[in-house]
Amino acid sequence: MTHCNFYIGGQWVEALEPGTPHPIVNPATEGVVGEVVMGGVRDADRAVQAARAAFDAYSQTTLEHRTALLQKLQSVFERRYTEMAQAISTEMGAPWDLAYDSQAECGPGHIQATLEAAKTFAFEAPSGKGLLRCEPVGVCVLITPWNWPMNQVVAKLAPALLTGCTVVLKPSEFAPLSAKLVAEYVHEAGYPEGVFNMVFGDGPLVGSALCAHPEVDMVSFTGSTGAGISVAKAAADTVKRVVQELGGKSPNLIFADCDLEEAVSRGVRKCFNNTGQSCNAPTRMLVERSVYAQAVEIAKRVGASVKVAQPTERGDVIGPLAMRRQFDTVNRFIQLGMDSRARAIVGGPGRPEGFEKGYFVRPTIFADVHNDMAIARQEIFGPVLCIIPFDTEEDAIRIANDTPYGLAAYLSTGNAERARRVAKRLRAGNVSVNASGNEYCNPFGGYKQSGNGREWGRFGLHDFIEYKIINGL
Ligand code: NAD
Repeated sequence: MTHCNFYIGGQWVEALEPGTPHPIVNPATEGVVGEVVMGGVRDADRAVQAARAAFDAYSQTTLEHRTALLQKLQSVFERRYTEMAQAISTEMGAPWDLAYDSQAECGPGHIQATLEAAKTFAFEAPSGKGLLRCEPVGVCVLITPWNWPMNQVVAKLAPALLTGCTVVLKPSEFAPLSAKLVAEYVHEAGYPEGVFNMVFGDGPLVGSALCAHPEVDMVSFTGSTGAGISVAKAAADTVKRVVQELGGKSPNLIFADCDLEEAVSRGVRKCFNNTGQSCNAPTRMLVERSVYAQAVEIAKRVGASVKVAQPTERGDVIGPLAMRRQFDTVNRFIQLGMDSRARAIVGGPGRPEGFEKGYFVRPTIFADVHNDMAIARQEIFGPVLCIIPFDTEEDAIRIANDTPYGLAAYLSTGNAERARRVAKRLRAGNVSVNASGNEYCNPFGGYKQSGNGREWGRFGLHDFIEYKIINGL
């Protein structure tokens, strides 16, 4: 049984105001493997005070010093890599290959990108007749979700620490094992006490207390759009910088001139990756009508071949959803789709055959979906794909952009001119053409209600700095 408590001022501490402990449930077995201490407002304050006390000294350290510390942290992440993959697989049910090759890799991946970006980042440079300085924004609260836990924590933590900020991390109580390891890694890397602090707690209580705290300068939030709005409201009275990385309902445009088999298979697999629990999952597949029937057949074949398995099974499989709440929500949406005018071609509600327990669901594909249906508009956050036909390029762009979100978009075409033309008009922060993917050196973030920030590499560094012009030096 793992006990996850708080790391404040360089030590592991118990809560001042303990709430009901949150059980850590292995989603594949529904067995309890530990508990998370849930704090209160006084715990949030204690962590902020520790970060505030450390800020003056840490923010005045040299870039070389902070680079050396981050390099040490990188080496701890690399040395304890397998432990991290195990923690992620246990806490949110990621199959082993995904946990090891992708989920755990995000930690060292983001640190490396931050270190690279810092080499050429102009932290101090002449501007006009003055001196332009990039200074750390201050005490930063980092609030993170559970679905790609290391991606979200380290994409914030690495640039915050490198720029000279001090932090309070409030990770999701559904991903506490990986967060606990992060605190151990920071400790082992030798960061001064108070530079990194971590508390667990309920979002509306501890999360909003952190966001409203007058000693906090910035909140970097990743999570659902609803919670992001609450965060911004809680932070507004103290005029904090708030960076939001929120939900998505990303379109995948498939034109008749592409390699249809390849594009549809890739789209189905990408949508189901991480059991559909990715903010940038291509959940709306828009297909040109002339190849629509063929695409639906391919999607049906590929979808039916996707294997649901225990997270310990090796190979290309999908695991359970991360928690009971997701299991109930995803099943509710699948039922909503079944009751709509859409046509279920793969899957349906309930567990797949052979699974009596665990939060396993059937990967589900709906064809003949209209973009105004709930299953096409709302973020389901499970392995549920909607296929929607379109008639013209203009029609495809209109449907793709007809969403409150704007995180990612995907398109497949054999025509490079079309790819350029369409990509420019998609209102999304990340557009992938054909088989291309994201790189840590490039910005990640959304348009519209998918957020207002850009993380990763040098874009992440920008988030955590204040620009200061000094005239007359
Ligand atoms: P969530 O919004 O329920 O919780 C995210 C975090 O916010 C948790 O730590 C939670 O405790 C905290 N929180 C909740 N309410 C709060 C409040 N009122 N004040 C302060 N903190 C609060 O999201 P989740 O279920 O953990 O994660 C899934 C969501 O995250 C999806 O919507 C997904 O699209 C989104 N997400 C976005 C990105 C991105 O980069 N854009 C990446 C990953 C996940």
